[in-house]
Amino acid sequence: MRIDRVLGNLGYGTRSEIKKYCKFGIVLVNGKVVKNSSFHVDPEKDEIIFDGERVNYREYVYIMLNKPSGYISATYDDVEKTVLDLIDPEYYVFNPFPVGRLDKDTEGLLILTNDGQLSHRVLSPKKHVPKTYFAKIDGVVTSADVDAFKEGVILDDGYKTLPAHLEILKSGSISEINLTIHEGKFHQVKRMFESVGKKVIYLKRISMGGLKLDENLALGEYRELTEEEILLLE
Ligand code: URA
Repeated sequence: MRIDRVLGNLGYGTRSEIKKYCKFGIVLVNGKVVKNSSFHVDPEKDEIIFDGERVNYREYVYIMLNKPSGYISATYDDVEKTVLDLIDPEYYVFNPFPVGRLDKDTEGLLILTNDGQLSHRVLSPKKHVPKTYFAKIDGVVTSADVDAFKEGVILDDGYKTLPAHLEILKSGSISEINLTIHEGKFHQVKRMFESVGKKVIYLKRISMGGLKLDENLALGEYRELTEEEILLLE
């Protein structure tokens, strides 16, 4: 890959700016000054130094965010705050986007990446990647609801949901549950509870595939995924 492309992808400047930096002598590859910005490097193997600092090249970025309420799952919006507002602008050079959506008032696990193929695989309806949500429900959640969700419920648009696993953590006038679903219809958890006459009053995603939300992340905090964690997503 050309050195100007490597540095350009990482946000070090435009092609013409990088040409100037090279001429100026502040770009080194494996200890040697590279004056020609079309010079080819292997960004994974070669040691690239820019203005005295080691350049860490990578193509993809994977971020786990504990999404707070009040932010929409988009990369840009004229009016609303987006989840990208929570991320250090240093990451913007990778053009990260959210893998799927959480509602504005939903909290919890949201992955941001620029890996379109991974996102596609995780969201593919054919893959049925499980997603688990913790929710507080206005009303008494019963074993009849557990059975109904296992069988599949009919949403307001006539769609019958796939079998889902409902676990009652606390049953009372405000119940607490975990629900695992294997698909991602619009407002799915809220609409499933509506179909049994109940209202979700708090919703938090706690896992996706085999990946669990890191409980050390406070609301609005994020960190990069480890290589092992990336594999757990699918
Ligand atoms: N289901 C919902 O209703 N909302 C979400 O944000 C995610 C799943």
